[in-house]
Amino acid sequence: MSIQQRYEGAVMNTFGPPALALVRGRGAHVWDADGKDYVDLLGGIAVNALGHAHPALVEAVTAQMQTLGHVSNFFATEPQVALAEKLVSLLGWGDEARVFFSNSGAEANEAALKLTRRTGRTRVVAAEGSFHGRTMGALSLTSKAAYREPFEPLPGDVTFVPYDDVAALEAAVDETVAAVVLEPVQGEAGVVVPSADYLAEAQRIAHAHGALLWLDEVQTGIARTGAWFAHQLLDGVQPDVITLAKGLGGGIPIGATVARGGAAALLQPGNHGSTFAGNPVATAAALAVLATIEADGLLDATVERGQQLEALLRKQTGVVEVTGSGLMRGAELDGPYATQAVVAGRDAGFILNATGPSRLRFVPPLVITSADLDALDAALPSILDAARAAIASQETTA
Ligand SMILES: *Cc1c(COP(=O)(O)O)cnc(C)c1O
Repeated sequence: MSIQQRYEGAVMNTFGPPALALVRGRGAHVWDADGKDYVDLLGGIAVNALGHAHPALVEAVTAQMQTLGHVSNFFATEPQVALAEKLVSLLGWGDEARVFFSNSGAEANEAALKLTRRTGRTRVVAAEGSFHGRTMGALSLTSKAAYREPFEPLPGDVTFVPYDDVAALEAAVDETVAAVVLEPVQGEAGVVVPSADYLAEAQRIAHAHGALLWLDEVQTGIARTGAWFAHQLLDGVQPDVITLAKGLGGGIPIGATVARGGAAALLQPGNHGSTFAGNPVATAAALAVLATIEADGLLDATVERGQQLEALLRKQTGVVEVTGSGLMRGAELDGPYATQAVVAGRDAGFILNATGPSRLRFVPPLVITSADLDALDAALPSILDAARAAIASQETTA
């Protein structure tokens, strides 16, 4: 039996049937069970910052596991403290900033949501098109009806406003609001970038009413957009809380909630916890990711490869809009054939991703090479042709 057939017989069907069974990876390439090679433009959904099987990450995880793998939060460990210090320093935040570790993006957001409750206020303002995770609290902040409705009533007192609409925020935020939560760039929505002044305006409005600005950088953080954190690309934006996960561990599960100023002291002893959170292996992995980004100049590489990716997408027939920065890019197609493009991409040896009927998202490893992108450039015209042909034949049969 194939891995996929066994999957169906053993794994709960929450994701739908997997497209491929993968067996190994290297750099920005993965191989399937038949030995077929794919260029990975998805990177485990913006997770594999260092690509697959990066020696620095393998070495850090192995060495830490051989030394001290897990101890619980009754004890402190060097990698955990060093990672907290490093994150605060990369944020440019001072002595009063603090980090809470967790194991995923949803959990990082759960911690932040609990933190907002300690302001004494209960209302949170979030954006339409948002994605903050699938646990009940994180889901309460996620706007997509198909994700929410099967699980209502959801906790929380959440008001959704249109994204990138300053007037709507002005109207929604008052003295009852604990926090405004926003993605600096909406990832799951298809790399939707707001106007240049939107986050600064959101900060002004939140602070005018004594509310916190909470930026969900789970997808945009850790060099993805060409800066350590996406909000650092903007002048004068200084959130009170940020949440991180995805790229942070480079594939080892880890999340972080970082707060500064008064927000850093809202969660008190006994208010929150997690058995695995900030464990030595996960934090050693994250330290290796951050150190490798610095040592190998991956911020610059992300900017350069990002420009190459943007340019090759812009010139494709059928691509009508390219969004995003660094190695987080969205491409709007001139018709609803994005899922067909993903299938055609697979046939041609490329892992692509559709976030909507006519929207492709590219979040490859930050180590993707210029040659990998040249290969994509050469293959895309026929991938998109095949996708258009596939949808045309579906329409004829229907
Ligand atoms: C992926 C994502 C999450 C959820 O992270 P999980 O690790 O899947 O729980 C939350 N927020 C944003 C912006 C994300 O992209």
